[in-house]
Amino acid sequence: MSVHVIDEANRCLQCPNPRCRENGCPIHTNIPEMIRLFKENRMMEAAEMLFENNPLSMICSLVCNHGNQCEGNCVRGIKGEPIHISSIENYISDSCFERLDLTPAPSNGMKAAVIGAGPAGITIAIILALKGYSITVFETHDKIGGILRYGIPEFRLPKSILDRYYKKMRELGIKFRPNFSIGGSTGIRDLLEDGYKSVFIGTGAWRPRKLGVPGETFGNVFYAINYLNNPDVYELGDRVVIIGAGNAAMDVARTAIRHGSREVVVYVRGEEVSASPEEFEYAKVDGVKFEYKKAIVRIEDEGPVFRDAEGKENLVPADSVIVAISQVPQDRIVTREKNLKLNENGNLATDSHGETSLPGVFASGDVVTGAKTVVAAVAVSKQIAEDMDRYMKELN
Ligand code: SF4
Repeated sequence: MSVHVIDEANRCLQCPNPRCRENGCPIHTNIPEMIRLFKENRMMEAAEMLFENNPLSMICSLVCNHGNQCEGNCVRGIKGEPIHISSIENYISDSCFERLDLTPAPSNGMKAAVIGAGPAGITIAIILALKGYSITVFETHDKIGGILRYGIPEFRLPKSILDRYYKKMRELGIKFRPNFSIGGSTGIRDLLEDGYKSVFIGTGAWRPRKLGVPGETFGNVFYAINYLNNPDVYELGDRVVIIGAGNAAMDVARTAIRHGSREVVVYVRGEEVSASPEEFEYAKVDGVKFEYKKAIVRIEDEGPVFRDAEGKENLVPADSVIVAISQVPQDRIVTREKNLKLNENGNLATDSHGETSLPGVFASGDVVTGAKTVVAAVAVSKQIAEDMDRYMKELN
């Protein structure tokens, strides 16, 4: 067992009003309780408590912005180092995952459909399956995970974890239809006519946000979401410029370095990055360089042209330019199902219970909010699973 994790657990003060949980964690993980059970050698109980509160606990322990959330709010961090909460949570969730005792409630005879196997869809499918619903998940890709598999690099989130989730979901009786998009030959109406009592849309945000500058269609320009989907097929060359400042920009930069690019520079419009402090630090350790207060003007075959704070324009020679300024939803369902209303941001509109303009059709995650964090998608989806449960029970 890692001594580091035990040492960290021993440093926890077991605060009666824990800032880590109340102020820091978007899904209010009971961190002091987790640490207490761990220290009492009751790790399975800790793991079950974590999973019940957040079925994606193992994933969140790796990909959350801990520096701004639980660890950033830990009282120990005021005068020294915060407790390394994520390591403790990861140790518990990872070691116990296969042994979690997940027994679904007896079948209630009702079917629900989940469209999209990303963080929101996985959360909904697991919670409803445990409540006794028969769940079918429709997924455009060949494997589950969505943005977790196709947008987060292996060194941050090993894909084997998603394969373990798939196995666990199959054990819960969840059915999958891979390589299949709802909104083409089959629409939501077909699902409802076939007897699904409710439909959940969690198709994510996959359309890259454009810079809106000349040259964006050139052969030396790529979008982060496309690059991260399959970095092996790209030949970026030695000099790579990345435009953006969030975690996706850091993921792209660190992936490019691992694929052999020698000079990787992230150009930031403002004075600081919006990526989590850890991802920023790791990017620097990996050798990524940063340039601030540079606004993109256009892209040429030789590289991007930026305007600096003094208003001077400079061509930055580069073999490739990667645009990493977020994504918006792109989905056949959103464009083809005319009865689905959109909100003012062009995302799927839902009421406070996650219900769309089509009765019985719910949605959450990035398709509703635009690209947000994994934990935010899980927290909202958890609530929506309860709303779907209530809706379906009222039908009966
Ligand atoms: Fe432990 Fe820090 Fe949370 Fe207090 S704030 S309970 S010290 S992890």
